[in-house]
Amino acid sequence: MDRYAALAASPAGRLVLPRLGLPTPPVLRRYAPGQPLTVGPVLLGPADGGRLADAAAAALSGTGVDVRRTDDGQTRYGALVLDADDLATVEDLERLHAFFSPTVRRLADGGRVLVLAGHPQDAADAEAAVVQRALEGFTRSVGKEVGGQGATSQLVRVAPGAQDRIGSTLHFLLSARSAFVSGQVVEIGTDVDGPVDMPDWDAPLAGRVVVVTGASRGIGEAIATTVARDGGTVVAVDVPAAASGLADVARRTGGSYLALDVTAPDAAARIARHAAEHHDGLHGIVHNAGITRDKRLRNMSADRWRQVLEVNLAAPLRITTELVADGVLAHGSRVVGVSSVAGLAGNTGQTNYATSKAGVAGLVDRLSADLAGRGITVNAVAPGFIETQMTAAVPVGVRQAGRRLSSLNQGGLPVDVAETIGWLLWPASTGVTGNVVRVCGQALIGA
Ligand code: NAP
Repeated sequence: MDRYAALAASPAGRLVLPRLGLPTPPVLRRYAPGQPLTVGPVLLGPADGGRLADAAAAALSGTGVDVRRTDDGQTRYGALVLDADDLATVEDLERLHAFFSPTVRRLADGGRVLVLAGHPQDAADAEAAVVQRALEGFTRSVGKEVGGQGATSQLVRVAPGAQDRIGSTLHFLLSARSAFVSGQVVEIGTDVDGPVDMPDWDAPLAGRVVVVTGASRGIGEAIATTVARDGGTVVAVDVPAAASGLADVARRTGGSYLALDVTAPDAAARIARHAAEHHDGLHGIVHNAGITRDKRLRNMSADRWRQVLEVNLAAPLRITTELVADGVLAHGSRVVGVSSVAGLAGNTGQTNYATSKAGVAGLVDRLSADLAGRGITVNAVAPGFIETQMTAAVPVGVRQAGRRLSSLNQGGLPVDVAETIGWLLWPASTGVTGNVVRVCGQALIGA
């Protein structure tokens, strides 16, 4: 928690800051093993069911969540979930108002709003397609209205036939793991074959071996820690100069490490050799290593341009392609890239970085399609303002703006990015491919 957020959370801050019209960042609930999934009962509508409401009820059975199908007018809910799949006319959109308007005021702090829907491209006619698209504006606006209480809102689009695959996504979005994810549209499809049920929600990565690049510090270290906590084994990769930090991370997480510059021409071969020597195969890779070399375009040297494009984009593309071609990443594997909200939105002094990070979204688009037939999912996260060494070096004014200009009024923590990556790595996330999910607290930047 940054200093301002700590002040806002103190009794004095809670009293004074709102009177001065200053933002009061909520304290976010973060995941701990064994914690209840939601902060209160889940209201799941409509009461008479539907394709996605029924699937959600099935996915939540056995999770200990108290699922209610009708509102009693007084319960404080941990989550409000509506199946909007069959909304097909503009008039039907009134059902959003009818379900959420009376209940949203009883959403608990840290609560969740989810709208489950179809994809506009699968709609039967033009009006239905328009209506399904309209749901985006609704969920994003709700996110802005409930963010002040540490609550989030998302739209989940579920392709025809993919309803039995929503469990992992429901689990992630309803839980405290998604603390800093809001205003997102997640798509679940049928393109990739694989498991959809998870035997143990507190150890979702049991038996999985995952490479994490840039793992010696910051977000990469948090990813390694989260993968290990969730039962996975980490191969921690970072530049040779970071070897001692890397060895520490490997020791703490019970994994192995490989000191390697990811831009080396033989990087994929060395990862493959390491995995064969130290582990029983490889099930995923997280391309987290990234650099910035900021300068306005007019002053940018060719070297700065090349270094950023090599580390952030060329290396992930080359390593993924080679590991798949060599069968090291086989059926059931997970590839996760790390983009950036600033990169996607464009930023002064970051033409090189933004090009590379938009390229990561392109990698997701193309490789998710190319590798679906091989049973491999490809997704990315796009972090917003995350409290790391990288952002600690940003000038103070920009830093404060980066933190406050979001629905949750604060910067995220490395663990927030790590939890989101964890969900994308889960074997049960078979239906989730081709997504770029922002972990930005619904930042206004790039919105
Ligand atoms: P960080 O603290 O700088 O850590 C990145 C790590 O990657 C460093 O240990 C770095 O080593 C390593 N690395 C750099 N080049 C490498 C190479 N060629 N081969 C292997 N490892 C290499 O960065 P972070 O803030 O944790 O960010 C992690 C990722 O999130 C990056 O992709 C970044 O672009 C992205 N991101 C961060 C934020 C944020 O707010 N922090 C926001 C959006 C996106 P060195 O010591 O050599 O640098």
